[in-house]
Amino acid sequence: MIYRTRFAPSPTGPLHLGHAFSALTAHDRAVARGGRFLLRIEDIDTARARPEWEAQIYDDLAWLGLDWPRPALRQSQRLPVYAGALDRLTTMGLTYPCRCRRGDIRATLSAPQAGAPVQGPDGLIYPGTCRGRPMAEAGPGDAIRLDMARAVAVLPALPAFTETGALHGGVHRLDPQALITGVGDVVLARRDIGTSYHVAVVVDDAHQGITEVVRGADLFEATQIHVLLQTLLALPVPEYHHHRLITDETGKRLAKRDDARAIAAYRAEGASPADIRALVGL
Ligand code: GLU
Repeated sequence: MIYRTRFAPSPTGPLHLGHAFSALTAHDRAVARGGRFLLRIEDIDTARARPEWEAQIYDDLAWLGLDWPRPALRQSQRLPVYAGALDRLTTMGLTYPCRCRRGDIRATLSAPQAGAPVQGPDGLIYPGTCRGRPMAEAGPGDAIRLDMARAVAVLPALPAFTETGALHGGVHRLDPQALITGVGDVVLARRDIGTSYHVAVVVDDAHQGITEVVRGADLFEATQIHVLLQTLLALPVPEYHHHRLITDETGKRLAKRDDARAIAAYRAEGASPADIRALVGL
């Protein structure tokens, strides 16, 4: 099988050193294996994605010396495909409409009998208020959630995935309790965009024939959601490589707003692509 990996930025701000590390790591792994490096623009969040950031991504990556088949896959063009995946999960009886707003969820979780709000890899763990509502009731103001306990129950056995990164290296079998109590009923379709990162990422990794997903360690905990969805949707499970995160001098992870560490800012100051590699330890 030919090795294929990808870099999947969201065009919601400038690429910074952390993105450069991720893209270069993925690219270098593809080159070392005689494989392919693909680019995917994760622009489903139309309120935050901007064409100028997308243009800057192409420019920065080309300047870094990366090459990818053009045109890059753009998630905003693929909403009907994601809707098809959601339909499939609905047909399996695994989804329900949810009308709760973030404030409702926080309030339920902080009620004395519920204990303190608990964070999972997808934010607050949903307390299940709307679970069991029929899909026939779904309206435009509803998000669609995965009934995690049912999803786990319909599979004869839970799958495993192989992690090739040093931080979490090894084979990880999904754990039902970790999924039900530690992740919970994740949103599959946001009410504003009709899909979610989790659905789009698994559909597109399969569509692009990705054999190894290279990305930051901040997404390691979300991988159990992705592997579960791949299995439910009968998609192949790739290998995963979660790399270390690039931090600032204080040890804090870089964020989109760290414009001072934007690749464009280093370029403007006369840095070379080799300088960027050195800065991220490659
Ligand atoms: N679009 C995500 C981000 O910008 C990356 C998703 C992934 O690599 O799976 O962080």
